[in-house]
Amino acid sequence: MNRTQITAGRDAHHRPRGVAAEELRRHNLATLLERLHLLGPTSRSELTATMGLNRSTIADLIGELASLGLVEEGPAQASSGPGRPSPTVSTRPDGATVLAVEFSVDSVAVATVGLGGHVFAQVREPRPRARVSPDKTIEQVARLARPLLESLPSGASLTGIGAGVAGVTRRSDGFVHLAPNLGWHNVPVGEMLSSGLGLDQQVLVANEADLGALAEYRRGVGAGVPHLIYLSGEAGIGAGIIHDGKPMLGAAGYAGEAGHTLVNPDGHKCRCGAKGCWETEAGEEALARHAGIPETVAGVGILDTVMARAEAGDETALAAIAEVGRWLGLGIGNLINVFNPQLVVLGGLYHPLFHFLEKAVYEGARLASLEAPGDVAEIAASGLGLDAPLMGAAELALSEIIADPAGRRQTGPG
Ligand SMILES: [Zn+2]
Repeated sequence: MNRTQITAGRDAHHRPRGVAAEELRRHNLATLLERLHLLGPTSRSELTATMGLNRSTIADLIGELASLGLVEEGPAQASSGPGRPSPTVSTRPDGATVLAVEFSVDSVAVATVGLGGHVFAQVREPRPRARVSPDKTIEQVARLARPLLESLPSGASLTGIGAGVAGVTRRSDGFVHLAPNLGWHNVPVGEMLSSGLGLDQQVLVANEADLGALAEYRRGVGAGVPHLIYLSGEAGIGAGIIHDGKPMLGAAGYAGEAGHTLVNPDGHKCRCGAKGCWETEAGEEALARHAGIPETVAGVGILDTVMARAEAGDETALAAIAEVGRWLGLGIGNLINVFNPQLVVLGGLYHPLFHFLEKAVYEGARLASLEAPGDVAEIAASGLGLDAPLMGAAELALSEIIADPAGRRQTGPG
C-alpha cells in the first residue's frame, strides 16, 4: 500500500475562512510534523508540493518546529526537477522521546522511542504465567526502564509514557477493569506506573491489541490502510480496529474484545466465565488440546513445542494448527461481515504460526463471510511481530505532541 496515503485524513488547510488563524497554524504544524514522523526525511520542496501550502508558509512552519527542537534541516539535496536544491527536513528523535511499556501475558517489555519512530533502546523480559501481582510487575518495569532512561542522549526530552495491557482498559485514566490472562482485576495501572517510575510525564494506557493495530497502521504491514483489524493472540485473542484511519475504541475504550464473542455454544469454559468464546476454540489452549500437549507445558512452551513439531513435519501438530486456524478463520469471517476491513493482521502467537495457519484461516474466513466483504479482505502476518503493541504504546504517547506541537511552548520542553 502507498505510504503517502497515511496522512490523507489530515489535510493542510490554507484558507482561514472562519477558522481562527492561530488554530489553522497549529493544525498545519501538526500535519507537517505527523508527515515527517511517519514518512521520514523529506525535502522542503516536496513538503511544499504535497501539503499544498506556499513556500514561505512551509518555511515558517519548519522554522517553528525547529525552534521547538522537533525537526532539523539537513544539507540541500540536488533536486531532480528545475529550481534550486532543496534542504531535507527530518524529525529529531531526541526532541520528543517517550517511554513505551508492554504488559503482556508472557513478557514485559520497555523501550525508549523518539519522533520518527526511532528506537533508542528496548528490552523484553519473560514474565512467569503464575499470577504475578501488578505491584511486582510494575517493579519489574521500573527496573528495566531505569538504564534505558539513563542511556538517552543528554538533552533528550522525555515527553510521555505509553503502556499496553492485555486486558479491558479504560482509556481516560489507564484503569484496567479485567485482564483475565494476567489475573488482574480493577488495577489502576496508569496511576501505579506513574508512581512506580517516579516520573511526572503523562501516562497513557491502552489495550495491547488496540496498540498493535495502531502500530501496524502507522509503521507495519498495514501502513496507510484505513480499514484494518489487528488480532493479537497470546493466552487469549484481542482485536484492535482501525476504521477510516482512526482507532475504533467504543464509548470507553473497551471495544475489540473479540476473543469473548460466542463461536461455539458447546465449546469449552472460558476464563471470563462464559462458555465457547472464540479464544477457547482458536487460542493457545485449543492449540495445546489439539496437539496433545500435556497441561504441564504452559505459556510460550506450547507455541515452541507445536512450532518445533510442525517444522519437523509432525502430522498431529500440523493438524492441530489447521484446526485452530479454521476456528480463527471462522471468527475472522464474522469480523469481516461486521467491519468490512481491507486487511486483517495476525499478530502475537499467530505471527510465527502464520505460514502453517494461512490456508486454514482463509478457508474458515471464506466459509463465514459474505462474498462481497470477503473479496475485499486480505489476511496477513504482522509486520512488526511481537513488538507491535510495544511500538503502538510509543505511537500513542508520541501522538500527544504530534497533535499539538506548539502546545509544548506553554508547558516548556520536558
Ligand atoms: Zn470468554
